[in-house]
Amino acid sequence: MAVVKSLDKADEPWGNLTTVVVDSGLLLNEKSYQRVINALNNMRGIFNKVLFLYHNLEEKAGIGNISSLKDINFDCKFSKDRINDSSIILKDYFYGKNPSLVDKLDAGKKILYLGERRSKFIDTFTPPKGLACHKFYKVVLGTGCPFNCSYCFLQLTFRMTPYVRQYLNLESLFKEIDSIDKIGKPVLLNSGELSDSLAVDPIVKSVEEVIDKISNTCNVSLLLVSKGTNVNHLPDIKNNKVIISASLTTPINAAVFEDRTADPYSRIDALARAKAKGYRIRCRIDPIITYSDNWEEEYSELIDYLFDMVEPEVITLGQLRFYPMLLQFIKKRHPKAGEYFLNATREMGGGGRCRTEFESRAKVYKKIINLIRKKNKEPLMVAPCKEEYRMCNRLQIPFKGCNCI
Ligand code: SF4
Repeated sequence: MAVVKSLDKADEPWGNLTTVVVDSGLLLNEKSYQRVINALNNMRGIFNKVLFLYHNLEEKAGIGNISSLKDINFDCKFSKDRINDSSIILKDYFYGKNPSLVDKLDAGKKILYLGERRSKFIDTFTPPKGLACHKFYKVVLGTGCPFNCSYCFLQLTFRMTPYVRQYLNLESLFKEIDSIDKIGKPVLLNSGELSDSLAVDPIVKSVEEVIDKISNTCNVSLLLVSKGTNVNHLPDIKNNKVIISASLTTPINAAVFEDRTADPYSRIDALARAKAKGYRIRCRIDPIITYSDNWEEEYSELIDYLFDMVEPEVITLGQLRFYPMLLQFIKKRHPKAGEYFLNATREMGGGGRCRTEFESRAKVYKKIINLIRKKNKEPLMVAPCKEEYRMCNRLQIPFKGCNCI
């Protein structure tokens, strides 16, 4: 009912989700209870089923109190503790006995889990050893994502809990933000490390509350990163505290290597709309993939369009990099992409990741940087992401900053 049906498919990345799972612990706090109710109301008509997981009698009673759910098809299940939740969701409820990891990963893309974050929302990201990468603050508003990019490292990171998780106990987050604000130094919270920041927000609607909180701090800013186009629901802002960053590629790469993401040119259009609403704009072109014979021309057109529509303050660049184990998953879930990646990333580079060969990688970076330098009038920051120091030296890019700080 509440979802705007005039949006096109790319604007509705939740279209593939079939089941909502609610951690009933959320029902015991008045504010998170209200967020669950609002989200479920926004989702009416989208999901086949809602599953409430309860861990004690108090939580079970909380489910009974939801009178507004009368017309929603829902089940309740007991889970003896939260560590057990994923097994209930994926084995008993969704898939039956003994699903393979690939089955779980596929099933996870159909499930939206509204949960409580029990560990800290905000943490520092420690750069992997041997890579030119900054320490930055990450904020975990959720994990996982309804998009299905073949190269996504989250397939490995969240292989045991592969569903799209959104955390709604935001009062705990707000306390952490207050503590960080009191330190008195500027801090940027990156919400795009473990999820797509905006993919399901039009139905879950937690980001607006976070933006409001951040807007009322002295020192804290927020980075939202997305491969979608969902910015219309975000509020206009009048401060410089929220950055929206689009993750970009060429349309051919998006068609071959990304599943369900928005058309890259539409992502740039969304950046322009976000800019008009008062947001700061960045982007990342990562992973750059030279799959097409015309890759240079295609990236040139993309970069031209980007600068015609918005002037990003930072552009982060990256190229294919995989832990060997991730490549095994990719081969099974995205066979065509997996075969290409296996052939393209034969060099074991820094950070224990398979990468494309150093010299050809340097050439690709140089070409993309030249395309950017041709277009931008002001010197803007271009930074490689999770690259080797020797690459930064080769490109003569001083290791100063990136999207994440
Ligand atoms: S949009 Fe990002 S988080 Fe989502 S599947 Fe693609 S790479 Fe992973």
